[in-house]
Amino acid sequence: MKIHEFQAKQILRDAGVAVLPGIVAASREEAAQAFRDLGGAIAVVKSQIHAGGRGKGTALDNPAQHGVQLVRSPEEAATVAGNLLGHRLVTIQTGPEGRTVHRVLVEEGCSIARELYLGIVLDRAAAMPVLMVSTEGGVEIEKVAAETPELIHKTHFDPAAGLQSYQVRKLCARLELTGPTVRSADRFMKTLCRVFVDADCSLAEINPLVVTDQGELVALDAKINLDDNALFRHAALEQFRDLAEEEPSEVRAGKAGLSYVKLDGNIGCLVNGAGLAMSTMDLIKLHGGAPANFLDVGGGADVEQVTEAFHILLDDPNVQAVLVNIFGGIARCSTIARAILEASKQVGFNVPLVVRLEGTEVEQGRAILSESGLNIIAAESLTDAARKVVAAAAS
Ligand code: ADP
Ligand code: MG
Repeated sequence: MKIHEFQAKQILRDAGVAVLPGIVAASREEAAQAFRDLGGAIAVVKSQIHAGGRGKGTALDNPAQHGVQLVRSPEEAATVAGNLLGHRLVTIQTGPEGRTVHRVLVEEGCSIARELYLGIVLDRAAAMPVLMVSTEGGVEIEKVAAETPELIHKTHFDPAAGLQSYQVRKLCARLELTGPTVRSADRFMKTLCRVFVDADCSLAEINPLVVTDQGELVALDAKINLDDNALFRHAALEQFRDLAEEEPSEVRAGKAGLSYVKLDGNIGCLVNGAGLAMSTMDLIKLHGGAPANFLDVGGGADVEQVTEAFHILLDDPNVQAVLVNIFGGIARCSTIARAILEASKQVGFNVPLVVRLEGTEVEQGRAILSESGLNIIAAESLTDAARKVVAAAAS
C-alpha cells in the first residue's frame, strides 16, 4: 500500500525521525492560513499524490506551475495551492495524463547545505532489509544506480537487532559526514531502520535526506510503502489508504477477492492461479499481443467472482478480446463454464471470447459452453489460445 508524503512524515515524526513542521491544506484559504501558522518567511507547497518527481513535474494545464514550490507569503501560498488543487500534475512517474492533486502539504522552508539519498528495501535474496545511501541525493536515484552504481553504498541490517553504530559510522565516512552530523545520522538512520521493521514497510525512501546549515539531518521528502500482507497488524496505518489514488478497477477487484492489475494492452485475461496468469501474459506477448490486465480469480473461484471479473474486464474500453484460460484443479471447469454463461447474460460479451479449459470436469465444462449457443472461440492448448486471441483482438 502506498501512502502520501504527509502521512509518511507523520509516521516518522511519531517515531522520532527528524522532519520539518508542515500542515496539510485542501483549499487556497487553508494554504494561506498554514503559511501564517508556520510563522516563517518561506514555506514550500508540496502536491500530495502517490507519485514522485513532483519537484520537476508540472500541472497539465499550466506548465509553469511545478508540483513542489517555494513561497514567500500567504498570498503566494494561496496562488500556488490554487494552481495545484483540483488540477492534474504530470511527473515522470504519473504517465502523460497526470494525477489530480487533492491536498497540498505546506511545509517550513529548509536551509539546505547538502542533499543526500537514503533508502531501505527488503533484500529477498539476503532475507534481510538493506539500507542504501548515496551522496547523489535529490536527483533520480534510478539514474545513479544505472550509470554510477559505485556511488550507492549498501549495508544489510538485522531486523531484530537493528542498525548498529559501526554500520552508521561506515556509511557516514562514505557520505563524508563529520562531527556532530555523525551523531545526528546515528539517531536518524537507526530510528528509520526501526520504523521500517516495526511498521512492516516494503520501502522507506528519503530523497533528499538533507544536511542543514546547522549540520543536522532532516527528511525533506518521505516515501513509505507498507506491506499489504502485514496491514492486519497495523489498524492505525490502514486508515492511510487513499482509494482516490488507486485504480478504480483494482479497488473493485480487491473487494471481490480477485487479484487484478490493470495494464495498457487490449487483451483481457481471466485466469486461475498467479503462475498461469503470468505465463498466459507471456504467451500473449510472444504471439505479438498485449495483455490488458493480470487477473487471477484464485483457486476456489465461484460464479459470482467470475461474473464480477468479467464485469471488470469488459468495463475496460481498451479490451478488444478476452482470453479465459482455466486449469481446473480445485475450481472445476464446469463452474467456470456456468460462470461464463451467467456473465454473458448479465454483462453481454461485445468482444470475441477465446476459452481454453483443461483439468477437473473439463468435458462437462466444454459441453456446457458448446450447448449454450454462445459465440465462443474454443482453444485446445495454451499456444493455440494465445494465437487465437491475438488474431481476434487484431481483427
Ligand atoms: P519529489 O521527489 O516528488 O520531486 P521532493 O519532496 O523531493 O519531491 O521535493 C523536490 C525538491 O524540492 C527537493 O529536492 C528539495 O530541493 C525541494 N524541497 C522540498 N521540500 C523542501 C523544503 N521543506 N524546504 C526547501 N526545499 C524543499
Ligand atoms: Mg524526492
